[in-house]
Amino acid sequence: MGPKILPTGVGVEGLTTMSDAFDQLVALDSEHVMQTYARQAVAFVRGEGTLLYDTDGTEYLDFLGGLAVTSLGHAHPAVADAIADQARTLVHVSNLYYNAVQPELAARIDGLLGGGGRVFFANSGAEANEAAIKLARRHGQSNGGPERYHIVSAYGSFHGRTLTTLAATGQPEKQERFQPLPSGFRQVLFADIDALAQSIDDRVCAIMLEPIQGEGGVLPAPVGYLEAVRTLCNEREMLLILDEVQTGLGRTGRWFGFEHADGVRPDIVTMAKALGNGMPIGACWAREDVASAFSAGDHATTFGGQPLAARAALAVLDVMVVEDVPARAARAGARLRVLLAAVPGVVGVRGAGLLLAAELAEGIDAKQIAGECLIAGLVVNAVTPTAIRFAPSLLVSDDELDAAVAIFSEVLT
Ligand SMILES: *Cc1c(COP(=O)(O)O)cnc(C)c1O
Repeated sequence: MGPKILPTGVGVEGLTTMSDAFDQLVALDSEHVMQTYARQAVAFVRGEGTLLYDTDGTEYLDFLGGLAVTSLGHAHPAVADAIADQARTLVHVSNLYYNAVQPELAARIDGLLGGGGRVFFANSGAEANEAAIKLARRHGQSNGGPERYHIVSAYGSFHGRTLTTLAATGQPEKQERFQPLPSGFRQVLFADIDALAQSIDDRVCAIMLEPIQGEGGVLPAPVGYLEAVRTLCNEREMLLILDEVQTGLGRTGRWFGFEHADGVRPDIVTMAKALGNGMPIGACWAREDVASAFSAGDHATTFGGQPLAARAALAVLDVMVVEDVPARAARAGARLRVLLAAVPGVVGVRGAGLLLAAELAEGIDAKQIAGECLIAGLVVNAVTPTAIRFAPSLLVSDDELDAAVAIFSEVLT
C-alpha cells in the first residue's frame, strides 16, 4: 500500500520505536481499561477519508467506518473546521438554557423526515432509543391507560446495551447475564407479519424495528413487510418506532432506510451513528402529536444537543446535502455489490447502498477472514460467523472500492 507515514504521537510517555508504542498501549489497556472488548491487535492514530494509519504508519482501507459512523470519512475538513471553530466559541452550556445550534439542527432533521415533528437530542444510539421508548410509554399510557406500555421488537434486532434497550434487543444471549431486565418487552420473528400480529394485545403501545437489521447480520426487511407493519400499527393504534441508528442518513442509498418501503411514515425515528461523523450525538424524532406526550421534566440529558456536537452534526448534514450522499451511496453500493458477488468464496451479498454483507461459502470462518483482511490492509468486520460487513465512507471512490475488493478477494483465495 502507500508510503509509511509516522504518527504525530499517541500520548504515551517514553516512546522509542513505533512497535513499542503499540505494545505500551496494549499494556496500559490491559491494566487499566475494563476488559469488555475483544480488540484486534492494531491501534489507529490517524485517518483521512477512507484511509486509516496505525502506530507503525501502516495504511489501511477503512470499510467498517467505525461501525457505520464515519459516513463522510475520517477528518473531513468541513466537519473538522466546524468542530474546531465551535470548540473555540462554546462547547457546552447544559439544557437549562437555549443554545444557538440545537434548534437549527432539530429543524434540519425534521426537514429530512418531511416535517411536522420534533427532536430530542441524546449522545448515542442507545440513548436515542431510550428516549423513543420512554416517549412511546408516555404516549401509550396517557392515551390507553396504565397498562399500555408494552413494546414488541424483533429477534435478531439490536437497539443498544443500556438495560432498557437491551430488553428491546432480541438477542437472548446478550440479555441472560443481566436479568432482571425492565419488563414490558417481547420479541417476535423478524419479517413475519403474522407472528407480529399474533403478539399484539391492548397493552402494546409500540412496535420497534430496524429497516435493515444491522448488528443482526445486515438483514433487510423483505418487500412489503414495513408496509404491513404500518397498517397493523394503524389498525391497533400502536406507534411505529424505527431504529435508524445504523441505517439513517444516507447509508442505505436513501436518507432513511424506511424510504425503501412504499409510503411508510414512522411515528418515531432514532438516529445516531452517522449524525456526528464520529462526534457522539444521537437524536430521537417524533411526530408532533406523539412528541407532545413529553412535558417539561419528563426526559433530560446533560450533554444532549450541546453546541459542539450539534455543530458537528450541522456540518455533517451540510456536506451530505451538497454531496447528495444518499445518491452517492446508492451508486457506490451498486458497484460494490457487483464486485463482491464476483469474488470466489462469496455465495451472496445482501443489504442496501453502502451497508452490505457478503455471505461466505460453507466452511469459511468470517472472523478469521476479517482478521486476515486487517493484516492485508483492509478494515472490515465479521457481522455474523459467516458474513463480512462492508460500511465504508459514503464518499468512497471507485478506486478504493476496487482496491478493497482486490484485498478481500486475495484473502479469500
Ligand atoms: C449501534 C446501534 C445502536 C446502539 O448505538 P450506541 O451508540 O452504541 O448506543 C442501536 N441501534 C442500532 C440499530 C445500532 O446499529
